[in-house]
Amino acid sequence: MIPPARRITAVCVLGAALAACGSADGARHDRTEATVSISPPAPRPPVLAPGPGGLTPVFEHGPRTLGRTVALTFDADMTTAEGPRAAAGEHFDNPDLIGTLRALKVPATVFMTGRWADEYPTEARSLGHDPQFEVANHSYGHNAFTDDCDGLPSVPAAEMRSDVARAYASLRKAGVPRPMPYFRFPGGCYDRQALRALNEVGVTAVQWDVVSGDTSAKDADAVTRQVLDEVQPGSVVVMHCVLSTAPTTTQVVRTVVPELRRRGYRLVKVSELIGQSNGHR
Ligand SMILES: [Zn+2]
Repeated sequence: MIPPARRITAVCVLGAALAACGSADGARHDRTEATVSISPPAPRPPVLAPGPGGLTPVFEHGPRTLGRTVALTFDADMTTAEGPRAAAGEHFDNPDLIGTLRALKVPATVFMTGRWADEYPTEARSLGHDPQFEVANHSYGHNAFTDDCDGLPSVPAAEMRSDVARAYASLRKAGVPRPMPYFRFPGGCYDRQALRALNEVGVTAVQWDVVSGDTSAKDADAVTRQVLDEVQPGSVVVMHCVLSTAPTTTQVVRTVVPELRRRGYRLVKVSELIGQSNGHR
């Protein structure tokens, strides 16, 4: 089992202890050990506090009143059944989209399925090592965490934790060193049982408040209009990093990003909005 948040907490606690050692007079021995054996701890990603009964918290958007920020998020969907189609040349990745985000210097959060990371490890690793991006968890094979979710096959309740763990294992195996403790439910479908099943995993569930409608879209202008009409300060926009099923997304980004900037929006990663949200609405 991977409790990412706990693991990161442990590193931070250790780091704090070492910093205290280093500042204490006469603790030269400890300071030397700290310098040679421990690199600075990575900052702990912000998470929401659990809900009542320890229920997995759900994040939908950032504060509306702390300035114009917006997070573009990209789901890297892939199912186990799509493996043969990828082998036959169908693209469930979208290198042009990632290249465009890099060229436009857009910080972004990618919710990656484990199956996608298995298929495209080089791209997963590249995203995982680029500070412009953060990579989070979108299940292993994009099965739903409720019984009735837009026709998706479902994960039995008893297997929900292990599905999320399997996805984290695939992300790490592909070379994503620090996947974020954020989980996006496939199809956005969840209920109390699903939130309870992930209680001990330590993730914040991340939804959205703006649906781009890029899945199966043919008309980039319609998707662009929908995003621009619905964005508010603190919005989380859901888009896709899957050329086969979301072929207009790169074009949408090319138009939406300059327009959002013209309107005074700053593009941020989900972690920044979650960090802003502690204590704010
Ligand atoms: Zn998805």
